[in-house]
Amino acid sequence: LVDYLTPEARSILMSRIRGKDTAPEMFVRRIVHSLGYRYRLHCRNLPGTPDLVFRRLRKIIFVHGCFWHRHEGCRFAYTPKTRRPFWEEKFRLNKERDRRHLLMLRRDGWDVLILWECELESPAAAGGRIRRFLCRTKSASKPTHHRQISKH
Ligand SMILES: [Zn+2]
Repeated sequence: LVDYLTPEARSILMSRIRGKDTAPEMFVRRIVHSLGYRYRLHCRNLPGTPDLVFRRLRKIIFVHGCFWHRHEGCRFAYTPKTRRPFWEEKFRLNKERDRRHLLMLRRDGWDVLILWECELESPAAAGGRIRRFLCRTKSASKPTHHRQISKH
């Protein structure tokens, strides 16, 4: 398989083979850690083996590679020129699987953030997204009730 790939696609593929601890993911872990949150890594008992799981907050962060997960409109989500039908089928299945996992997680009450690899090129913006996501609470979105107490 590897011989069919362009050098660029090959290096992406090899980085996946080397393991889950990819550079984009390490970057996200550092940000989360600096914010003081604790998390579990690669929970295989959850749909899609989420990259970071915050059990108490019931939140999940996925760090998606743009190529494999098909980030729409992204320059990294190109289709290799050779063996197009093979790639198109593979990408279709990847997208379908991601969508299924996301639905399952949301149905089970998980709050899910997907960070794309290319978003991490702007560390400040990515950090802001992560912080807002983790700080957001479900109760905070409820309207506040002001009780009027009148004593007569
Ligand atoms: Zn992207």
